[in-house]
Amino acid sequence: MKLSKMHLKTLREVPNEAEIPSHILLLRAGMIRKLVSGVYGFMPLGWRSVRKIEDIVREEMDLAGGQEIHMSAIQPAELWEESGRWYAYGPELWRLKDRNGRDFCLGPTHEEIFTDIVRNDISSYRQLPVNLYQIQTKYRDEARPRFGLMRSREFIMKDAYSFDRDEAGLDKSYEEMYRTYERIFTRCGLSFRAVEADTGAIGGSNSHEFTALSDVGESEIAYCEKCSMAATVERAECTDAPAQEEELRPVEEVHTPGTKTIEEVAAFLGLEKRQTMKALLFVTYDSEGKEKDYVAAFVRGDRELNMTKLVNALGIPEHAIEFADEEKMGDATGCVGGFTGPVGLHDCVIVVDSELPGQKNLCAGACKKDHHLINVNYGRDYQGDIVTDIKALAEGDPCPVCGAPVKHARGIEVGQVFKLGTKYSQSMGAFYKDESMKDRPIVMGCYGIGITRTLAAVVEQCHDENGIIWPVSVAPYHVIITVMKPDDRIQAELAEEIYEKLIAGGAEVLLDDRKERPGVKFKDADLLGIPVRITVGRGAADGMVEYKLRRDSEKEELYASDSIQRALDIIEKER
Ligand code: ATP
Ligand code: MG
Repeated sequence: MKLSKMHLKTLREVPNEAEIPSHILLLRAGMIRKLVSGVYGFMPLGWRSVRKIEDIVREEMDLAGGQEIHMSAIQPAELWEESGRWYAYGPELWRLKDRNGRDFCLGPTHEEIFTDIVRNDISSYRQLPVNLYQIQTKYRDEARPRFGLMRSREFIMKDAYSFDRDEAGLDKSYEEMYRTYERIFTRCGLSFRAVEADTGAIGGSNSHEFTALSDVGESEIAYCEKCSMAATVERAECTDAPAQEEELRPVEEVHTPGTKTIEEVAAFLGLEKRQTMKALLFVTYDSEGKEKDYVAAFVRGDRELNMTKLVNALGIPEHAIEFADEEKMGDATGCVGGFTGPVGLHDCVIVVDSELPGQKNLCAGACKKDHHLINVNYGRDYQGDIVTDIKALAEGDPCPVCGAPVKHARGIEVGQVFKLGTKYSQSMGAFYKDESMKDRPIVMGCYGIGITRTLAAVVEQCHDENGIIWPVSVAPYHVIITVMKPDDRIQAELAEEIYEKLIAGGAEVLLDDRKERPGVKFKDADLLGIPVRITVGRGAADGMVEYKLRRDSEKEELYASDSIQRALDIIEKER
């Protein structure tokens, strides 16, 4: 492709709304174009890279026995009502009505649709296992679309669904997809880690997230350097502190004026934060959106609450809970903002972190302004309606597997695999007949890759201050030939010759024949991040060119024919 003919507009300035490198660079390189918040289009170079990622995904999915199909983005509400997710998915589900008032949604994921296909088509054990997948546009009305392709409202996903006779079959399918994902992300040039994950709105028993390591990632992972424990922080178990043997002292009310935070009350009373407990107050909603229950969650004062664990403990979707208006909740339950403890609370669900019963003589709010209670003890002074692990595993806490201090890292979730089991086949009636003609539910797995988020993750890991540094495998073009003076006949002819030969050798080539100053061309070449740059300038008269890899700083003077060979070799090796 000649750059003089390409529909390309690069930007010098950093666009206002872009905060992170991938968003800034994809916009500046003219690869994506924003339509409205969270909705992007792809320009020629951007779309080529999307297709490269799709091709890698297709090749690997096909090798693993997947069969590609293509389902519509529009899905009827009835299927979502069958699975129970029309309510459970919440406001992220993009709902619409047709002219007759019938409800539909734009699919955020396709479990219902694929289960529907299979329940209609599969009746016998002989037809199993099967793995169906698609690469298709998804819609999620995200609360905070941001970071460009990273969290958008319209995005491209590869979603695959496996259907097996039994759990052992699912284990095999899951393992195969896990290995396939490792190959896909390696081929995309990503540095990533697979970690245990929560199953969220998708459901099921077991799940792993594939996380591209990056400081701008929204996923926080906890891992252990001593053993193989690695999990999202949402999911990571947190070991209870050892139970204390102290004698129980009598409860005492103390005057603690103005000490609303744990830090303040601990300092005021000369206690460690871990000798206190912290209250977090919530209200939950029913499926009609009406207020249902007040919830008070308690963790030790030095801990943080893990919201995912709390909603799992309550058995409600994440969108059905919010921080409570403390005054309103106070009228109903006796809580007092900043001074809430479990003693004296009424008419609310009390959720107690599993380590609190073992911690003795704690300080807690007295449910009375400017007062706390000291020597509060579980069992004697308060009880929980639910007692379970709801605390976040912090950096430095003991690893739940081996006890060594855990580390935290940030990453971008580029893919996730789930063992769904029979959640959808039971609720939607997808059964097969086994050898003895007995009806059995099909055992399912599902496997997603964010294609467009993967593109952003690659840029996030592969860039410098001048622009993108594409790995060969997902680069929009392999080579850019920069002609210093396109009006110079010798330079133009040599560039053309290199261009033809590279294409004949199977390379994808951009020829920058624009009538721009060399400085502008070099800046654009760096910004676009094409892996190999061949510059045709003054040396053309002697058949010499300059050869440079985008990822290296050295340049080399080579004979044109050698530069072609070098470029073809590297493409062959890394594509
Ligand atoms: P997140 O926790 O980031 O919201 P998720 O766990 O809800 O994502 P899945 O349902 O597992 O996402 O979807 C499969 C894949 O689709 C994700 O691993 C991610 O790569 C991609 N994805 C999900 N939401 C978005 C989005 N809003 N924009 C771009 N890609 C997304
Ligand atoms: Mg996910």
